[in-house]
Amino acid sequence: MKSLVQDAEKEGVDSEEPVSMPSPSASVSPDAPSVTITGRDANTLSTCRNRSKSRGKPAKEDKNICVKQYKDPALHSSLLGPKQNTQDNERTLLIRGTEKVLHGRSEPNGNYMNNPHLKNIQDHENGIKHPRKKKPVTVDSAKAKTSLEALKISIKHLKWKEFPMGRRAACDIYWHGVSFHDNENIVSGQVNKFPGMVEMLRKISMSRAMRTMQELFPEEYDFYPRSWILPEEYQQFTTQIRMVKESDATVNRTFIVKPDGGSQGDGIYLIRDPSDLKLVAGSQAKQGVVQEYIHKPLLIDKLKFDIRLYVLIKSLEPLEIYIAKEGLTRFCTEPYQEPSQKNLSHVFMHLTNYSLNVHSGNFVHSDSQSTGSKRSLSSVLYRLAAKGVDIKKVWSDIIALVIKTVIAVVPELKVYYQAEIPPGKPGPTCFQILGFDILLMKNLKPILLEVNSNPSMRIEHEQEVAPGVFEYVPSPVDEEVKVNVIRDTLRLMDPSRKKPPIALPKPGGEASEEISAEPESPVPSPEEALPSLCLKQVYPKYTKQFNHLRLVERIAALFIRFLGVKGNMRLGPTAFRTFIRTCKLSNSSFTMASVDILYIDITRRWAGAAADSREAGMGLQAFVEAFFSLAARKFKSLAQRQQVVALLELCELSVCEERRSVSCSRALSGGSRTLPHTAHLSPVPLRRAVSQDQRLHYRLKARTLRVNADN
Ligand code: ADP
Repeated sequence: MKSLVQDAEKEGVDSEEPVSMPSPSASVSPDAPSVTITGRDANTLSTCRNRSKSRGKPAKEDKNICVKQYKDPALHSSLLGPKQNTQDNERTLLIRGTEKVLHGRSEPNGNYMNNPHLKNIQDHENGIKHPRKKKPVTVDSAKAKTSLEALKISIKHLKWKEFPMGRRAACDIYWHGVSFHDNENIVSGQVNKFPGMVEMLRKISMSRAMRTMQELFPEEYDFYPRSWILPEEYQQFTTQIRMVKESDATVNRTFIVKPDGGSQGDGIYLIRDPSDLKLVAGSQAKQGVVQEYIHKPLLIDKLKFDIRLYVLIKSLEPLEIYIAKEGLTRFCTEPYQEPSQKNLSHVFMHLTNYSLNVHSGNFVHSDSQSTGSKRSLSSVLYRLAAKGVDIKKVWSDIIALVIKTVIAVVPELKVYYQAEIPPGKPGPTCFQILGFDILLMKNLKPILLEVNSNPSMRIEHEQEVAPGVFEYVPSPVDEEVKVNVIRDTLRLMDPSRKKPPIALPKPGGEASEEISAEPESPVPSPEEALPSLCLKQVYPKYTKQFNHLRLVERIAALFIRFLGVKGNMRLGPTAFRTFIRTCKLSNSSFTMASVDILYIDITRRWAGAAADSREAGMGLQAFVEAFFSLAARKFKSLAQRQQVVALLELCELSVCEERRSVSCSRALSGGSRTLPHTAHLSPVPLRRAVSQDQRLHYRLKARTLRVNADN
């Protein structure tokens, strides 16, 4: 695959940020003076420091008037004392029709800088119109929990309005600390969580989604360690390990066992033999995954570390993904050794979790971003670059890992989304910041450990202030990274921001990549005083390289099409039969009775496997399995991926033929396209857009497919 970086350079996008990479030279070096405006006063331009620097010792008066120079002239004038107002150039202005006289000082060029009222009146007389002041964006922060501190700072930077106790009227943005459901009954605005994200990113669901992708695209998805789901795949796990050992007795692999839904390293342990698995807790089988342990990680200062990268899913349909250019790295606190029976239980050596290592005596809190047990990502990349590592390649591999992972979870998220906010029902739109945990192998290949739906946005860290007494103290590295991520997420979600032009699908071709990444703000806003966005758009920017991976999303679109009842997430037997009939998948050798058997077989197995099997029917992952099996039956001679593609095209076409509308085919196949998420259910507005050519194209394609089909 072509390097993403090469592509970005060729496209010439974002020329001021050439490789979409945390620039090691900018804001990285701990000693380099920071010239970016960040921190609590980011919306003010402090002139004092610069002035005194350039002039050497500041003059006495300078010290006295050394106030922050505000962009807002009203604020500016209120900060200047009366002394300045009575200096030269003082002017008075009589307001017509009133007895009022306004005083003010004009600049030599005639500008009434320190009295905005005078300026407005003069402008009015001169016929100059000012854009109407924007209403501040409102944010409900009542449920923000541990991200509250960083959120407050971000809102302040943006000069938006916070409602810390919630608000009776609707807010523009609702900031939730845990899940979509933190506030119930939101009918408008935007929520910072997607429904179903927590469930989707639990270790079992995530491993299943990744495995589906690994089946279809083994080479593209080799960044996720081989995993087995417990308890249901215990037998497969033991059999496979024993077989490997029998074939080569010197191989002694290590595995890491993780409880489903666990976090912060809780309940994680390493094993070298399947018999060491702890399968039950009390009388209950433990749900979790057992995963290949990456035993050769890249080390810095002899320590294992992982990367925490913040990723914004700005929207599901069209899919928009942003990556924060700056992240964190979390270091172990005991020098690393390859796993052996002796050191398996050394958590400070093998697990990079901050929450564990902070309790080690070796944990180093540091005010510098490039030392200590928690460092900025750019400082680590800078260090690697200094050693000759090709960090452009590393960064480009990380971007690819992120996009592929999001593509793997999007299908299920869409099912949750339509169930929670069915088309036609008023509801908010969603966005979400995810925390990607990535390990670099010794050979620099990035490996996905997990994705957190609720990454910690705390900007303080726990510190032992007296023996055994822990307190939260400010953490500069956390604040720098997390405030920027939250603030820039808000900037991107600003409802008054001009929407970028939607790239309409070209007939018969790939979706266009022309989405302007930086829409212009129609009116000057406080944002203008802010640094450039730390979030970098990677999708749809790199659509071309990844679009072919969005196959399961097309299967999910079919699934949703046949769900029928609003709010449903599972397919009943009748709906499954309707799917088979509509897509003309049954025949004399695959009767409707066999269809029912397939349905019962698969749903039964998945009902046993699902943690929450209260709801009857076939969920998306079970449907995907059924779909693969139907594809294998129908297109025996093809390789698995081609089988799936062929069946998809056949089904999409049948659905469209049934509706006498080819347009919905685009919607069904267009998980990858830029249509609203309800498009496949309401094809009418799209119908007009479909050309004669496309219809012909689909008819011909159908004929070819039928000829190729085995039965
Ligand atoms: P949790 O959600 O409990 O933090 P993770 O999956 O992130 O669970 O695992 C915890 C830690 O274990 C990681 O931060 C990493 O240091 C280590 N780890 C997890 N999976 C692997 C793996 N496959 N190989 C090597 N180390 C791993």
